[in-house]
Amino acid sequence: MPENCIFCGIINGALPSYPVYEDEHFLAILDISPAAAGHTVLITKEHAEDLFTLPDNCARQALPAAKAVAAALKQALGCDGVNVLQNNGTAAGQTVPHFHIHLIPRYESDGVSIKWKALKPTRGEFSEMAEKIKSEILLP
Ligand code: AMP
Ligand code: ZN
Repeated sequence: MPENCIFCGIINGALPSYPVYEDEHFLAILDISPAAAGHTVLITKEHAEDLFTLPDNCARQALPAAKAVAAALKQALGCDGVNVLQNNGTAAGQTVPHFHIHLIPRYESDGVSIKWKALKPTRGEFSEMAEKIKSEILLP
């Protein structure tokens, strides 16, 4: 466990947080800089930097835990939707190098922006890309 990891500090109780959910593998806390009220981050109890190094047993539990928290946000806040967002690497916007999943409550016309400008690949480019990725797929 890296000594300077913020999320490890929260997991081991050295740093404060606002927990909303806990199970064997995960702790969910309110995000300190929320994109919307109720923005929650679901954090692995075991330190793993990102999706690439996440142990498979944690990965298997991640979506059920995210689903439970998303459902609680919807019930508790009456939001119209929830973004489930997970960043890997600084290029992808990851600022805390400890695996976590964002759950962001959303409302119609709330002005929160999670957007990108769509590329327009040709059919050939789509096919070539699909083949390239397919050839590297490895299941646990
Ligand atoms: P990411 O940019 O995907 O790595 O997200 C990291 C998230 O962790 C950001 O939304 C931060 O606001 C949040 N964060 C950082 N420090 C804390 C903290 N001490 N307690 C709760 N959330 C935090
Ligand atoms: Zn950590």
